[in-house]
Amino acid sequence: MTPLDQVNLSELPSKNTRLEQTRLLLQEALTSFEPGRVALSFSGAEDVVLIDLVQALGLKVDVFSLDTGRLHEETYQFIDTVREHYRQPIEMLYPDPAGVQTLVKEKGLFSFYRDGHGECCGVRKVAPLRSKLAKLDAWITGQRQDQSITRGNIPLREEDTNFAGSSAERQPSALIKFNPLSEWTSADIWNYIREHEVPYNALHDQGFVSIGCQPCTRSVGPFEHERAGRWWWEEATKKECGLHSQNIINVVQA
Ligand code: SF4
Repeated sequence: MTPLDQVNLSELPSKNTRLEQTRLLLQEALTSFEPGRVALSFSGAEDVVLIDLVQALGLKVDVFSLDTGRLHEETYQFIDTVREHYRQPIEMLYPDPAGVQTLVKEKGLFSFYRDGHGECCGVRKVAPLRSKLAKLDAWITGQRQDQSITRGNIPLREEDTNFAGSSAERQPSALIKFNPLSEWTSADIWNYIREHEVPYNALHDQGFVSIGCQPCTRSVGPFEHERAGRWWWEEATKKECGLHSQNIINVVQA
């Protein structure tokens, strides 16, 4: 039995208990697998909260981030700030140049506005992530239930069926996906960031909430949902980039 199994999650409404629940889940994730077989996917504010919590626990975590080649300058600065602030190595994953060349040659640099984001995200994000996950037994994300309609059912721990087939080494064992912040609210995240002086992307001070690639992210207005600024020309139920497409399946089936 893991430490988390000893906690009744349905009776954990308070902020402090959510924090403790997250600590327990991080401990489980980082001590249950061989070194190098679990890693944290880093891109946004939530992920830095996780790095901060891991270091406060005295643990180490491998961190990777997807560099699509289309990120904001501020995001690159943010990644380096986190690397230096925490002395945390961050592995950057890049798309296959041949895949990008073919896409751009045939469809140009902005095909996502016309054809939807799936094809470009497939080349620039999903393929490099698939290669990375093929070398892992588990990964940790900063997803939260209140981020969007597609994320309302995110559990703390799940089997990742989307990328499970990526590794001959792992078969038949499952790929586990930990979402230690799934029950945190946006306010929880930003309270933690302020209280612990956690570094964050400078774009947040310009009205950006959920931040992805530069051409596919815009700031949001008052009362807009936080992921409204992502692929704003598409329906809300399609606002996943393939990294967490299992969320879309869950919404469609709900
Ligand atoms: S977010 Fe936009 S630019 Fe980035 S990979 Fe997806 S479609 Fe391409």
